[in-house]
Amino acid sequence: MSVSDKGDMQNVSRQTLDQDDPLCCCEYIDRRGGRNHLAACCCDSLWIHRLLWMKKKPQNPDSLSRVMATFNDRLRVPWISGARQVDISVIPPLILLPVFLHIAALHYLLGILVLTAVSVLVLWYYYYTHRKKGRTLFFLSLALFSLFYMFYLFITEVVPRGGVNHLQLAAVTVGVALTVIFLIITKRGPGYVRPRPTDTHSTVTYHKPPSDVDAAYLNGAQHQVVIANHEQTGESGTAQQSVQRRNWCAVCKVVRPPRAGHCRIGGVCILRLDHHCLVGGINSCVGQDNHRNFLLTLVFFLLTSLYGISLVLRSACSDQNVMTALFYCPDVYNQFSSALCFTCAWYSCVVTGGLLHLLLLQLINVSFNVTEREARLALREKTIRSLLWGLIIDTGV
Ligand SMILES: [Zn+2]
Ligand SMILES: [Zn+2]
Repeated sequence: MSVSDKGDMQNVSRQTLDQDDPLCCCEYIDRRGGRNHLAACCCDSLWIHRLLWMKKKPQNPDSLSRVMATFNDRLRVPWISGARQVDISVIPPLILLPVFLHIAALHYLLGILVLTAVSVLVLWYYYYTHRKKGRTLFFLSLALFSLFYMFYLFITEVVPRGGVNHLQLAAVTVGVALTVIFLIITKRGPGYVRPRPTDTHSTVTYHKPPSDVDAAYLNGAQHQVVIANHEQTGESGTAQQSVQRRNWCAVCKVVRPPRAGHCRIGGVCILRLDHHCLVGGINSCVGQDNHRNFLLTLVFFLLTSLYGISLVLRSACSDQNVMTALFYCPDVYNQFSSALCFTCAWYSCVVTGGLLHLLLLQLINVSFNVTEREARLALREKTIRSLLWGLIIDTGV
């Protein structure tokens, strides 16, 4: 038997193995569709060679992105049903947040500098990803890790100092748990617009132009959404056709019901689309099915955070009023542990302030029965009354 025959047989036997064997926890299917092992990156140093080679030679951006994709493909954690891929954008918060907080706890000037710099950087990155319509898990990672890291520091730094009883600890724990539970429920689905083949011959109720429909009809929660395929337009009137053309999504190949919209970040059409949430950390579209849970997640987070901050300040600056302690706490930097708690309280305040702003905007929009998307579109088309420097949007519907 020649060497090539042997190689072929090994290939064949590996392929049959591939089909029969389930993945072990360290194995995965890579982006070329082949079976791969986590430890393979140690022996197969092809991508390391490529990286070294690239340093010597100026490369076109295409090969750089290919190497990054391969690197990202290799970055996996062991999982029961085969190794799971880790998005590279998950990692920076896990390293940077503890480092920055520990630096900020060294001196109050460092604290001001670091917290300001971090806020500006995160905001810049937020607007950058929003403008590029990029997908990133950075904000989800930052939000979840911040929540758990603050809780961890609360258990390890604040509770041993005394001044927090079991009931208060239980309240904070329940708050964190409720926030995470509602976050998971919110992520489960915003309500996708899907074409239903059974509806292709049905009466399409939403094709009436939305101008003569009342608010109750527009309030998508109650009315039955009937979706038709694009192909059946032919014999309808011109008004219907123009409405259909306006509501047709070329990407998802569906006709959208009123108030539905295509999310360019998620790449799907969502029923009563509000916005794509990055800053709340859920990294998901917010629409008809998860809007309420999204608001509840925000409310639980804010309540837990405010209560936690007040407990931390009461523990770190025991002789001060909670409100004044945040701005004036003379002895807090004498001890690293109390300085760290104080810095975390300030960090939590910045995050809480940002999310409180988001919740307020949401509540104003909900009370005027407009979604964030509709408000933005109306602002662009100048068909609305804008009160209080654009804070309140009234479309008059
Ligand atoms: Zn779409
Ligand atoms: Zn989205």
